[in-house]
Amino acid sequence: MADGCACDRHAHMYLTVDDALRRGLSIAAPLTDRETLPLTQAIGRVLAEDCTSKVEMPAFDNSAMDGYAVRTIDLIDGPLFELPVAGRIAAGDSAEHDAPAGSALRIFTGAPVPTDFDAVVIQEDCDVTLDGIRFSRLPKAGQHIRLAGEDLRAGAPILRRGCEIGPREVAALASAGYGEVAVYRKLKVTIFSTGSELRQPGEALGPGQIYNSNRYMLLALLQKPWIELTDSGPVKDDPDVLEQVLREACESSDLIVTTGGVSVGDEDHMPRLIAEIGGQTDVMKVAMKPGKPIMFGRYGRALYVGLPGNPVSAYVTWQIIGSQMMARRAGLQYNPQVTVQAVLAEPLRRRAGRQEYRPVQIEGTTPDGRPKLRLMAPSYSGRVALLAQAEGLAIIPAEVEELPEGHVLDLLPV
Ligand code: AMP
Ligand code: MG
Repeated sequence: MADGCACDRHAHMYLTVDDALRRGLSIAAPLTDRETLPLTQAIGRVLAEDCTSKVEMPAFDNSAMDGYAVRTIDLIDGPLFELPVAGRIAAGDSAEHDAPAGSALRIFTGAPVPTDFDAVVIQEDCDVTLDGIRFSRLPKAGQHIRLAGEDLRAGAPILRRGCEIGPREVAALASAGYGEVAVYRKLKVTIFSTGSELRQPGEALGPGQIYNSNRYMLLALLQKPWIELTDSGPVKDDPDVLEQVLREACESSDLIVTTGGVSVGDEDHMPRLIAEIGGQTDVMKVAMKPGKPIMFGRYGRALYVGLPGNPVSAYVTWQIIGSQMMARRAGLQYNPQVTVQAVLAEPLRRRAGRQEYRPVQIEGTTPDGRPKLRLMAPSYSGRVALLAQAEGLAIIPAEVEELPEGHVLDLLPV
């Protein structure tokens, strides 16, 4: 839906959140440069190759339990079976043995099962006698034996490129025999916050000045093993200074994230500056609350994301749109935004039109286990302390004006 505003030479439109995200993603070209790292150094990085297992998993037939390996062919005279114990195999031992026919082997979890043994009787089912072991239940062939390749055959796929190498992924790579792995190079990200009113926390505030919170929020949001972060600090609303910082950032970055100055006020210089240095921009009014003005752009290989100055707006637009663009630029293929279903603990009334991300607190759960939501203040785009007290963002669809208590909404964890 266009708002028909001709007050600026940039296109101003109210886009749905989905359309804005689609546009953002369409200009976020994934990194292709890779490097090969030892597995320990690849933790937290983005995998750049499809990985298949280098080994059979398990690599050899092994015991799933502590007990005794037997040959079922020996077990004919029930109901009690008695076998001498002719050897012992623990995890890490070889499967070699000289147990004669009609004997058992003491065996432990993870120990290789010799090929001529075909079942394990768990120790809880055995009485230990002076001569060996005695048990009454006839084991089935194959019982408690994990067969080589049963979990995964050598060459079977384990991970696709584009995943973040977290604890589960690195464990899978290790078990599949990867001593080193190809990852995308780190994404070079530069941040700066615009605004002549900004002071560092710890400094005294003069008239009209406020503390810079967005800088710290971005530093925290961008603390990731796959990011190489440059903090260009706060920058005054002075076009010459802004232009210089922007030019430098464009030279050295894959992604630039700024806050403030993306609206249409006289001190909102970013859209014009990106255009002036030769980049392409797309300033958008997105039908979202909080948020609204967000700017995407490109200059050379640098992708630019301009977030609104209001801290809660900056947070939400980053989480919903900016972070998705960054993930794509960094080579991540899987970055699902997981929401949970939650229930309103009170009725809701508001002005329809924009998809809203309302800070909420969780007040217990419904009998079927869904969180019950208490709505926080309806006006909050600058109230970052309130955001810190929130336990989630309730997603209110654009067309909604009123909802009764008990209505089900999607909740985005914060
Ligand atoms: P702007 O988008 O630059 O017009 O800023 C919108 C509002 O957010 C103004 O009230 C700014 O003072 C405030 N603001 C901008 N940048 C920051 C920041 N880094 N930290 C806290 N507040 C900010
Ligand atoms: Mg400003």
